[in-house]
Amino acid sequence: MKTIHVISVSGGKDSTALLINALKRRPPGSVVPIFCDTGNEHQAVYDYLGYLEQALDVRITRLRADFTDRFAVRRMWIARDQRTRRDKKGRKVRWSNKAKRRALAALKPSGNPFLDMCMLKGRFPSRKAQFCTEQLKRDMAVEFQLGLLDQGHRVISWQGVRRDESEARRYAKAFERIGPRMWAFRPLVEWTALDVFGYCAEAGIQPNPLYLQGASRVGCMPCINCSKDELRQIDMRWPEHLARISDWEYIVGQCSKRGFSTFFTDSHSAKDPRQVFADLNVWQRIEWSKTTRGGKQYDLLGQLDEPNHCASAYGLCG
Ligand code: SF4
Repeated sequence: MKTIHVISVSGGKDSTALLINALKRRPPGSVVPIFCDTGNEHQAVYDYLGYLEQALDVRITRLRADFTDRFAVRRMWIARDQRTRRDKKGRKVRWSNKAKRRALAALKPSGNPFLDMCMLKGRFPSRKAQFCTEQLKRDMAVEFQLGLLDQGHRVISWQGVRRDESEARRYAKAFERIGPRMWAFRPLVEWTALDVFGYCAEAGIQPNPLYLQGASRVGCMPCINCSKDELRQIDMRWPEHLARISDWEYIVGQCSKRGFSTFFTDSHSAKDPRQVFADLNVWQRIEWSKTTRGGKQYDLLGQLDEPNHCASAYGLCG
């Protein structure tokens, strides 16, 4: 029986520090870094993983969810569904024949895990229903680690959790048993973000270039939870990602009962889904991100923030 140290690498600062730390403290053969590819990543993340592999002389195992097999079941389910339900706003919702025809024509696997997951759900994830993290990251990592347990190994899952990140993480334990032959290890619990950057720099490892371009976190591009400022930065620097989200909104809308779906959710009083889509689609959210005073006024100073100016949220530029 061997002890395997699984490091979930995202391309962000915390998991990079974790990987460096693990490689320093444990025998190289026992450290297994994994990357869960959501399909909604910036190219810089893939490039950075390649850089880490070279700089640290380690191989990162890529894991990517595959939903292809679920499409046939979902298509059959939609074709047969005759039920009428009430949604949260009390509206009657059912699959009309027109909506069924539209969804059945659109429901074909794209090969992109994020998009396929949303097509099958007929919606995008939200803060309250964050199934993206579960299905694209957590489940993939858990499945991989269960495979190691099945091979008879002990698994220590290294997690880049810091207590100062949020209230929910304030009492995170540094070491915890999470199942038979399985433990969680969180060596960064007492670190700050700047400790993490400093540690990587001391080891001679560059930060992901996305941090130097305004990103305060590295993950999906964009994340469903991205802030107003982040959205404005993404629009200035990587508008092609938002154009892709607009295409996805159309495709996922086609697969939904109502015919519309928005990537970014927000409360809206309208009962008509067309109105909700008209107000909350990605292009409208981009316009909103450029405003101040509760969306009433354009932020002229924000507009002057040139894309080639270093906007690191952590002050990484000297
Ligand atoms: S980074 Fe955001 S969009 Fe991506 S899986 Fe996590 S919560 Fe979902």
